[in-house]
Amino acid sequence: MRIATIHIGQEANDFNPVPTTLGDFAAFGIYEGQEILERMRGKGQVGGCVDAVAAAGLEVEWIPVVSAWAMAGGRITTEARLFFEEKIGTGLRRAGRIDALALHLHGACAAEGVDDVEGAQIALCRAVLGPDVPIVLSLDHHANITRQMVELTTAIVGHRTQPHDTYDTGRLAGDMLVRILRGGVRPAMAWRKLRLVTHQEQFLTSQGPMKAWFDQARTMETNNSVLHVGNYPMQPWLDVAEGGWATIVVTDGDRALAERLADRSADLAWSMRVEFMKKDAVAIDDAVRRADAARTGVVVLSDTGDTVFGGTAGDSNLILEAILRLGIKSPALIPLIEPKTVATLVAAGEGAEVTLPLGGGSSPKFFTPLTVTGRVRKIADGRVKVAVFQQPEFDQGQTVIFETGPVTMMISERTGAAGNVPDVYRWFGIEPQDFKMAVLKTASNFQFFKPIASEVIRVDTRGPGQSDVVGLPWSRVPRPMYPMEAPTSWRG
Ligand SMILES: [Zn+2]
Repeated sequence: MRIATIHIGQEANDFNPVPTTLGDFAAFGIYEGQEILERMRGKGQVGGCVDAVAAAGLEVEWIPVVSAWAMAGGRITTEARLFFEEKIGTGLRRAGRIDALALHLHGACAAEGVDDVEGAQIALCRAVLGPDVPIVLSLDHHANITRQMVELTTAIVGHRTQPHDTYDTGRLAGDMLVRILRGGVRPAMAWRKLRLVTHQEQFLTSQGPMKAWFDQARTMETNNSVLHVGNYPMQPWLDVAEGGWATIVVTDGDRALAERLADRSADLAWSMRVEFMKKDAVAIDDAVRRADAARTGVVVLSDTGDTVFGGTAGDSNLILEAILRLGIKSPALIPLIEPKTVATLVAAGEGAEVTLPLGGGSSPKFFTPLTVTGRVRKIADGRVKVAVFQQPEFDQGQTVIFETGPVTMMISERTGAAGNVPDVYRWFGIEPQDFKMAVLKTASNFQFFKPIASEVIRVDTRGPGQSDVVGLPWSRVPRPMYPMEAPTSWRG
């Protein structure tokens, strides 16, 4: 058996005007050919898929085409989109006869002028491979499922947890491939699109309504005819023509069953729509005072409006402003991604005291720069050998450690891990446990800080990732859409 594999991941945020470039992919590594198997061994969607196929004892020659991942961000540039289309087209044409394609994508990537980047990539794969070669697609469950994705693939599997276990998803894809290639199963997919987009405060699958919905999927899978049930609560910053949550049921040839279960899954999610909109975030000043008063740290302050892992630019200064204005004394750790600030501070040099406008440059709709005075503690190269998500290392560009009042800032040119991973601070000689509070640029991925965090406070900050989804400047998602309107059914 010869199986080709392709892995491309980026999640687009339409309210962050800064585009994601090919350089942003290169910062996390773009791999081709056999190097993919070496880099991804035992890791991520690719590693999980390869391991599952091997565990099943299937003799396989892998044809690795391309593997690339970029941090979530603004829409990808035309250059980046065309680059990957060229890699896919050329790679598959050169692969010769193959028996299947393992396609690992994110599912919520948009490009300049193109809403459904992955749909177009899948169409390209199908055009090269013809109608009969099985394509198994593995996706992040924050994907936006589109008609092209469903109609042009053989089966789709998605993450089962948030935070994500990408290796597990790869294994699901590998198992599905094995069952198809051994001739045992013939996947029948049914899907439902919901008129639903909610903020991410209830996105953890370990609790609340999201747990109930994902638990239902696992229960459905206990039926021997059901191969996989994937729920797709689309990430809430994708403003595209086919936007909205979805659910996909894959059965072994039983279309009627798939249709029935897909309805049931959509019904359950819809019935919990008010619970999905429950907000835990507290006002900025309250959050900062609470962290300051906490007996022990590290108190994680989740900057929900500037969630870099949700595709924002990482230059919000709202929590910094509150800490300085309120005269907070406890030491605080805050990341900032802003190339022009890095340039200014590097020019000033290590040890220099500098007064400058900080943050807020990328999204004038949400932020304004804040003038502060502080000292440049350290200037460093930002190539960091710390694993984050599917990538073993990354380059966050030149990085400056800057101190202003009680705040220590890690200011970098590129997003990197956006201060969400303690080992990245340690790479620059900073021990996060020495701080009372740490601002995280994520609203869901607290798993890296969990071993040292005393509590997590969600901060109700505005920004391209804000929890106030109704207040975002939507223009393309279908209407009516809950919660912007109140449609009477998920069907709209
Ligand atoms: Zn996700």
